[in-house]
Amino acid sequence: MIHAEVAIVGAGPAGTACARQLNQAGVNCLLLDKQSFPRQKPCAGWITPAVVVDLDLCPETYPHSFTTFHSFQVSVKGMKFKLPTLQFAIRRVELDDWLLKTCGVPLIQHKAQYIEQVEGGYVIDGGFHAKYLIGAGGTYCPVRRSLFQQQNSLRPEDQIVAMEEEFHYTGADERCHLWFLENNLPGYAWYVPKAGGHVNVGVGGKAFDLKRNSDDIRRHWGLLTKNLEHWGLVRGHTYQPVAHTYYIRHSLKGLRHGNALLVGDAAGLATPDMGEGIGAAICSGMRAAKAIISGGEYDLRTIPKSSIWSIFTTR
Ligand SMILES: Cc1cc2nc3c(=O)[nH]c(=O)nc-3n(C[C@H](O)[C@H](O)[C@H](O)COP(=O)(O)OP(=O)(O)OC[C@H]3O[C@@H](n4cnc5c(N)ncnc54)[C@H](O)[C@@H]3O)c2cc1C
Repeated sequence: MIHAEVAIVGAGPAGTACARQLNQAGVNCLLLDKQSFPRQKPCAGWITPAVVVDLDLCPETYPHSFTTFHSFQVSVKGMKFKLPTLQFAIRRVELDDWLLKTCGVPLIQHKAQYIEQVEGGYVIDGGFHAKYLIGAGGTYCPVRRSLFQQQNSLRPEDQIVAMEEEFHYTGADERCHLWFLENNLPGYAWYVPKAGGHVNVGVGGKAFDLKRNSDDIRRHWGLLTKNLEHWGLVRGHTYQPVAHTYYIRHSLKGLRHGNALLVGDAAGLATPDMGEGIGAAICSGMRAAKAIISGGEYDLRTIPKSSIWSIFTTR
């Protein structure tokens, strides 16, 4: 049995942000992920200035693709305009690997399945024991499944379903495009070019509203890719999209159960207006670490509930 003060299940942004803080404070922790890194994560890779600050991410020293947008090309139900802003984009395959490498805690590749609460802590699959447990395993986090089903159930009306693909594309448009509410999509579609020649395109929306309208995210994916061809943004590409689901923030109740804490997508924290989840994942990971280090409350109340204000900021 391997013992530590804290076991973190999931090495995405939430898990590594937590690991980094704990490691800096000298707290012995284990970091488990079922995948080996670098790993793909379906995500447009848009990050706000707040994320850049929280991560101490310096574009000059960050060793991977980092893109700055001073405006977005926006369309709302077909009404088009250019919105001045200051936002950024990274590639998740790169950022998550970099976060892991720089958090100071080595990865143990292990798929957590059976989690038990025992006297004085938690045991994972009979092989790992810790006093504290962090559920950072994303939407299908086994910590949530094992310990939080009763006290924090995610609501179907907060579920986002999304399809996307990131690929290398020579001659990509340098502008970031966002299309809101097109063709009755209860969400938005995006075209996010990345430094280094990759582009991420996708559609995301509320699963509940799509179902209520007898609609399907695949229909919107089909419309987007057809339009990208038509507008000349992507020509002649054979798509291989991936789909994923996650939850927007509804309640901050029930995210701690004894010494087990949920962070990031495992807690359902993405912003309700834009489905921005990287920022909340990092903030919640850091706050969970802070609660463990200080013995204080796990308090997420000041994590931004919305992304839209950040988009209207140009500095
Ligand atoms: C298509 C799409 C586009 C998005 N675009 C954006 C965007 O542009 N900007 C933004 O801010 N947010 C975006 N999001 C949301 C964002 O990707 C998530 O909110 C964010 O990744 C949450 O981070 P996390 O660390 O909580 O979870 P994750 O990044 O999902 O990491 C969870 C980790 O847990 C591991 N894991 C899972 N199960 C186990 C297990 N049993 N044992 C061990 N390890 C396990 C996984 O392998 C994974 O590495 C998007 C989401 C989707 C689906």
